[in-house]
Amino acid sequence: MSVVEVVDAELNYLLIRSERRKTVGLYVKQGKVTVRAPYYLDQKHIDALVQKKLLWLKSKLEEQSQNQITTPRLFVDGSYLWVFGQYTKVTVIYGKKNQVNHLQVNNLQVNNLPVNDLPVNDLPVNDLTDELQIVLAKPKHSSISDQEILSRVNVQEQRLKVKKQLEKWFKNQAETYIAENLPYFSAKTKLTPKSFKVRQYKARWGSCNSKKELSFNYLLMMVPTWVIDYVIIHELCHLEHLNHSAKFWQLVEQHYPLYQAAKIWMKTHQSQLQWTLEV
Ligand SMILES: [Zn+2]
Repeated sequence: MSVVEVVDAELNYLLIRSERRKTVGLYVKQGKVTVRAPYYLDQKHIDALVQKKLLWLKSKLEEQSQNQITTPRLFVDGSYLWVFGQYTKVTVIYGKKNQVNHLQVNNLQVNNLPVNDLPVNDLPVNDLTDELQIVLAKPKHSSISDQEILSRVNVQEQRLKVKKQLEKWFKNQAETYIAENLPYFSAKTKLTPKSFKVRQYKARWGSCNSKKELSFNYLLMMVPTWVIDYVIIHELCHLEHLNHSAKFWQLVEQHYPLYQAAKIWMKTHQSQLQWTLEV
């Protein structure tokens, strides 16, 4: 087997030749291109193939670099999270007790605009960003300084604590928001649930059952309020139609004419709405 790094003006790639290989394969992984080829295949042949697939290779590379930007590491000091549709900086400090402070400095009314072009990949370029300050309780009777705590702390353990704090905070926000807004939409649509609860779901934003009980995913509080309101109306409409029939969508449209824009928003931002420690 031989491994050669091919540095080309158009595209750099790693060429791995092996005796067992019968065909040429092109692979794009972690932003790098690898070409696997039979040992004795001439370079001209390989060059021609790379040239032929150049557009595809470049689009793959582009796609992978986009993914890296849209899925930054979560739950660490300096990371970002959506909060009510605002890109919000997460900071971690140590203090007396566990708490979350929502410091709002950004007064842009992005929330009320039914737009699809909210920043997907752009990180905020200025300091005018909302902040979620996560305060983690210092160990009791500890005389060591904050600096020392930070240097001793296990990063993964800290991320877990930050995640827990955020979940508690988001759950609270969701309970408050839905308790305040559900009665309004209920009166507007004349559809009244028996009860509602807030919980975490892996793959859905809300649900409705035949007992007329509604549930909402508290991570819904990441999205702009006009999208949250769409989900509330969507679930309310299930009280009338417990399915996704044409009649159901007609009812949704009647109460929320911009429902398509809300659906598109959620689809476009889906990758940012996952809370996983692996990221
Ligand atoms: Zn539904």
